Amino acid sequence: MSKLQAVRGMNDILPDEAERWEAFETIVRDWLRAYGYRPIRMPLLEHTPLFKRAIGEVTDIVEKEMYSFEDALNGENLTLRPEGTASCVRAVTEHNLLYDSPRKLWYMGPMFRHERPQKGRYRQFHQVGVEALGFTGPDVDAELIMMCQRLWDDLDLMGIRLEINSLGSPEERLQHRAALIAYFEAHQEELDEDAKRRLHSNPLRILDTKNPAMQALVEAAPKLSDYLGKESLAHFTAIQDTLRTANIPFRINPRLVRGLDYYNLTVFEWVTDQLGAQGTVCAGGRYDGLVSQLGGKPAPAAGFAMGIERLLSLWNPVQADALIERPEAYVVHSGDGVQAEAFALSEQLRDAGFATLMHCGGGSFKSQMKRADASGAAVALILGEDEVASGDVTFKPLRGGDQMRISRDDVAEHLAMLLLGGDDTDDEEPLLH
Ligand code: ATP
Ligand code: MG
Repeated sequence: MSKLQAVRGMNDILPDEAERWEAFETIVRDWLRAYGYRPIRMPLLEHTPLFKRAIGEVTDIVEKEMYSFEDALNGENLTLRPEGTASCVRAVTEHNLLYDSPRKLWYMGPMFRHERPQKGRYRQFHQVGVEALGFTGPDVDAELIMMCQRLWDDLDLMGIRLEINSLGSPEERLQHRAALIAYFEAHQEELDEDAKRRLHSNPLRILDTKNPAMQALVEAAPKLSDYLGKESLAHFTAIQDTLRTANIPFRINPRLVRGLDYYNLTVFEWVTDQLGAQGTVCAGGRYDGLVSQLGGKPAPAAGFAMGIERLLSLWNPVQADALIERPEAYVVHSGDGVQAEAFALSEQLRDAGFATLMHCGGGSFKSQMKRADASGAAVALILGEDEVASGDVTFKPLRGGDQMRISRDDVAEHLAMLLLGGDDTDDEEPLLH
């Protein structure tokens, strides 16, 4: 039979790498707790209209990246979530979480987009999503940005630059939009196919084009910043002031528009040059209209999402090797009736807090010792009929140190000492057998 393969663009995360992910996730959880964010978990599947309504019909995600299908059993139109904000706001609205106070929420998990797989771009990828719901900003906007900087510091990541922009209010965007359409209409013959298609549906997205032939045209297009009113400008200025005070450098990028429709006022991206074309590691902003757009009582909101794969490929912890989890003890056993004792000894060690691998699958003493060595354990605990008869264990350090025979009651203490790097042979002669 031919070998089966994972779906293209969807990765297995194998044990060594999975342990790196867990170490990363621990740092992320501690970081979020430090800012008072609380976890929320949403389903991976939602009704398709949720994303159409939230993200917008004329966006890359909704137009061509969603895994949507009809549930064969009941005909419902379902979609594997391409991002978390829509689901999070849906959950918050459905459960009325904003009725008495604002909420700071986070989640982490897989997202699905049918894109062309390449380094840093997958069809199943993972995000950490952070949402501050019920806050008008600009304080919370600035804090959202500042907290990212702390995570980069916690992870020792260098060279991640901040770009910010303001998308203004919906009315200001409408005025700018009209100006943009007029401008692009006057330059019809310079537009590529994508741009022509978007001219009337989503002209703002034309500014986001990666087509080199259109750069000059786009550079000279009317700028949203010229259409921002007093309030929007004040909001934007306040964020900049807070960032300056916090010593967080930023660049205002007037072309930063984001690929999702729901943003207003603040938008930002954290970008690195170290990942080629997939350089955005975190993106977010304010989306005050979304809660009511999804049927909730109007509430302001802001948040961001970071791409875990991209962050992990930047993350080279100094002690990467230490992130790989190894058992502390490996229990080797053979002989009549010894297995039951091996089970008991293993449980005894786990009771004492030690990660213990008990050998399974039988085999010679020699082959068991090979496994013990390969497991990376600090010690092999050897049980034979002889040890069982006398209530002993043979304690064999695997990374240097003398083998000795000790009472079963003392195993935990010896192991603790060994792991601390202590030398307990001074007051006790090793009992070799
Ligand atoms: P891009 O411009 O790279 O397609 P995006 O604007 O579509 O990104 P968002 O929807 O804002 O991305 O998602 C937030 C973050 O999630 C991105 O900045 C990126 O780090 C990560 N991300 C998005 N799509 C993918 C993907 N297909 N594979 C891996 N990471 C992704
Ligand atoms: Mg994208």
